[in-house]
Amino acid sequence: MEEFILVLNAGSSSIKFTVFSIDQSAPQAVIKGQVDGIGSRPFFIARDNSQQVIAELFLEGDLVDHRQALNYLLDWLETHLPNGKIIAVGHRVVHGGPNITEPVLVDEPLMDTLESLTPLVPLHQPHNLAGIKAIAKTRSSIPQVACFDTSFHRTCPDITDRFGLPEALYQQGIRRYGFHGLSYEYIAAVMRAKTPEIADKKVIIAHLGNGCSMCAMDGGKSVDTTMSFSALDGLLMGTRCGSLDPGVLLYLMREKKMNVDQLEQLLYKESGLLGISGISNDMRELMASAEPQAQIAVDFFVYRIRRELGSLVAALGGLDALVFTAGIGENSAQIRHRVCEDAKWLGVELDDQLNETNNHELACLSLPESSVSVLVIPTDEELMIAQHTLKLIHARK
Ligand code: ADP
Repeated sequence: MEEFILVLNAGSSSIKFTVFSIDQSAPQAVIKGQVDGIGSRPFFIARDNSQQVIAELFLEGDLVDHRQALNYLLDWLETHLPNGKIIAVGHRVVHGGPNITEPVLVDEPLMDTLESLTPLVPLHQPHNLAGIKAIAKTRSSIPQVACFDTSFHRTCPDITDRFGLPEALYQQGIRRYGFHGLSYEYIAAVMRAKTPEIADKKVIIAHLGNGCSMCAMDGGKSVDTTMSFSALDGLLMGTRCGSLDPGVLLYLMREKKMNVDQLEQLLYKESGLLGISGISNDMRELMASAEPQAQIAVDFFVYRIRRELGSLVAALGGLDALVFTAGIGENSAQIRHRVCEDAKWLGVELDDQLNETNNHELACLSLPESSVSVLVIPTDEELMIAQHTLKLIHARK
């Protein structure tokens, strides 16, 4: 019987999934898909590893929650893989708090800890946990592993962990956690395997997708990062604002009478590229647009990277490599070009021809004389989760 690992990333109204075959030496993604519109009009889609759609349908009936959606997915997998067995489920969990430094097998005490962190990330954590609870209820014999976006940053020096707020608030958990850790961990691992000569040096990774952040790594470990208490901080994103003077929030509350829900909607959903352009959160659309506001949004996006890059170089005390990843970082030669132009003062010399012709693949894009290597490394958070899950399952045996 063929063995598989199911990787889940559960959001508020969607569950993304990847099925990995583990018969080869390394996990191989064989099916990817998602259930969207949970709670409204759920739609299920699955593709094989050549991107062919193998199932696509609106789910009839009152499939209202994550549990029912996951039940449908597991039933579908059992029919679709008649000679296969899901031997474990790995979950992306956004928050592991200040003390969890690596992936963990799910048990009741862990669930209690993760529940207690929900107030820190109310928009994400409950959905991640709903996925875990759903599997525990309907397929209780399948072991589950939780992998965290925060864990990779637990190596950051204590001094980077703070805001300038009273110590009591720090002790209560108001601190800089950092996110996108599974992506950074994957890239650190790829660098160790493919570019060992720079993997342990001073590296900044720019994860530029819908969510955007940068991570400074020294010796392959995170030493600082742009997202902090929440996934709002740092760079400008698709719909999130990035760094913001907290005085703006006080003003909006006092003068515009905005409440928490309105602020949350503004900061998470209506700001960023979308908010500035008034057109779209999609970088491709903005770059193709002739509207001046689209141009301003893209210019500000690049400027914020310039500022944060300088700040992280200062934190590292130098720079040996700059790595681009995620949707924009892997695909947009123009954004990479602009970021590298801004970073020329650091000794960054981009090979424009290599940059233009790169098609979303691992490559070094800098000129030989560049004192900073510029790399594109496509990220794969799901594979990272599958690897962790497999390792923990084997360790358990
Ligand atoms: P998520 O954070 O949701 O995983 P992705 O990493 O897929 O998102 O990144 C989505 C972003 O990547 C969108 O802004 C999209 O416009 C952008 N993107 C994808 N391809 C290109 C491209 N060829 N040029 C510019 N931006 C691109």
